[in-house]
Amino acid sequence: MTATLFIDGSWVSAASGDSRLIRCPADGREVGEASEAGAEDTHKAIAAAKRAFERRVWADTPAAERGDFLLQVAEQLRERKAEFARAEALDTGKRLVEAELDMDDIIACFTFFGKLADSDPGRLVDAGDPTVISRVVYEPVGVCGMITPWNFPLLQAAWKLAPALAAGNSLVLKPAELTPHTSMLIMDVFDSLGLPDGVANLVTGSGAEAGAPLAEHPDVDMVSFTGGLVTGRKIASAAAQTVKKVALELGGKNPNIVFADADFDAAVDNALNAGFVDSGQVCSAGVRLIVEESIKERFVDELVRRAEAITMGGPFDEAAETGPLISEEHRQKVYDYTQAGIEEGAVLRCGHHFGPEELSSGFFYAPTVLDEVRRGMSVVRQEGFGPVITVETFTTEAEAIATANDTEYGLAGAVWTTDRATAHRVSSRLRHGTVWINDYHPYLPQAEWGGFKQSGVGRELGRHGLDEYREAKHIYENTEPAVTGWFRSPDQS
Ligand code: NAD
Repeated sequence: MTATLFIDGSWVSAASGDSRLIRCPADGREVGEASEAGAEDTHKAIAAAKRAFERRVWADTPAAERGDFLLQVAEQLRERKAEFARAEALDTGKRLVEAELDMDDIIACFTFFGKLADSDPGRLVDAGDPTVISRVVYEPVGVCGMITPWNFPLLQAAWKLAPALAAGNSLVLKPAELTPHTSMLIMDVFDSLGLPDGVANLVTGSGAEAGAPLAEHPDVDMVSFTGGLVTGRKIASAAAQTVKKVALELGGKNPNIVFADADFDAAVDNALNAGFVDSGQVCSAGVRLIVEESIKERFVDELVRRAEAITMGGPFDEAAETGPLISEEHRQKVYDYTQAGIEEGAVLRCGHHFGPEELSSGFFYAPTVLDEVRRGMSVVRQEGFGPVITVETFTTEAEAIATANDTEYGLAGAVWTTDRATAHRVSSRLRHGTVWINDYHPYLPQAEWGGFKQSGVGRELGRHGLDEYREAKHIYENTEPAVTGWFRSPDQS
């Protein structure tokens, strides 16, 4: 029987015995089978994590040793990079070269938190009294539930796993049901490097069955979720019942603002990257092109010409520049979303079809540009999570800023201009957690990532990314205890 749940240091099958076939979205080939966990399995994993935390083997391991462990994880990932990248490419359908780039980022993430683990042991606080020693120390939160999406399966997990382990927590990871393989592989790495049993646990299965208990169970101290806004709201509301710590990395509707003085070729080229990398299935995808009116026609003509030339293909097709969407169901959602935009008056300039006949066994959807959209349209307001760029225009800087901020999301955005003063004014006004100037997509493990507004709560990466997984405790020590006299003693007359 398939045994892909990793609970208390052992590989086990789901209590129900159920499993799910995993297929590559590029061609439908079978790539594996995963146990389909239910609430009972997740409860077992939570209990294992709690026992491990209460034993304190990992929590009381010196922070420097926890950091060394993460550096060893990074080293193993370097050695097993080809195996991991292949598994990720097969589960997601993304190009192997993109999966390899993801692996580099994952290795960088473990390395960063490995080095950060013992960098901040706490601090002394001036209590204003020489008889008092007042310290602030950091402790692990406890049992952390982690729920991750399918677009960057191991990368999104790494942003949670590395800081949580650096801080001494125990955890239960629930990856997206369509892409479980690299989460299994990382558990194997942890196990082979001697992480104590029960510190890291894995449940594979659906969100509603295997995932929901992580938001509900009273023994989970924190739930960290990356995924869609609607699921994020459900998780936050379930977690509120036991007042868990909550970290949410949700969606985005990210503006890419191009001023007329921008480097034209670089801005067009990066507008393609912004919207079409990973077929737009990127939370920070720059799918709202907001371009200065005076260059709009030329800019969009060139964008469309380039978009039409993009070659789609499977993970191992060397000619391919982009891959499929994750599932038939998701492609239908992207199709309907675009169709609704067209019906509301958007002008279709290219795409909105499933690609050439030879790719018909995969879930391909051609890079799409929708021109002449207005702010109120659903394609401008809702996240599509596919390769669909909408085009809006502006004539003044103030209008560009107002348009870019007119969204319930606030994850990321970019501004393109050769005028640095304009760039800095605009970037300071954008209500988004990451702003690129004359670039799109790069991020650094050293820099915080997260959303303003409904794009999320909390930050991943950077120093804050570690703090999410720590509780601060103030220890106040009176070195000269004495009677306070606040309450009168009955012995006093
Ligand atoms: P999703 O919300 O459907 O699923 C994400 C995860 O939540 C999956 O593991 C799923 O099984 C689980 N889940 C679903 N319902 C659940 C429930 N009721 N209780 C507990 N868990 C549940 O999202 P998705 O479709 O997998 O991913 C796409 C979304 O993720 C997009 O909206 C995207 O913007 C967002 N995302 C955000 C970031 C970021 O850093 N902000 C990164 C990647 C993806």
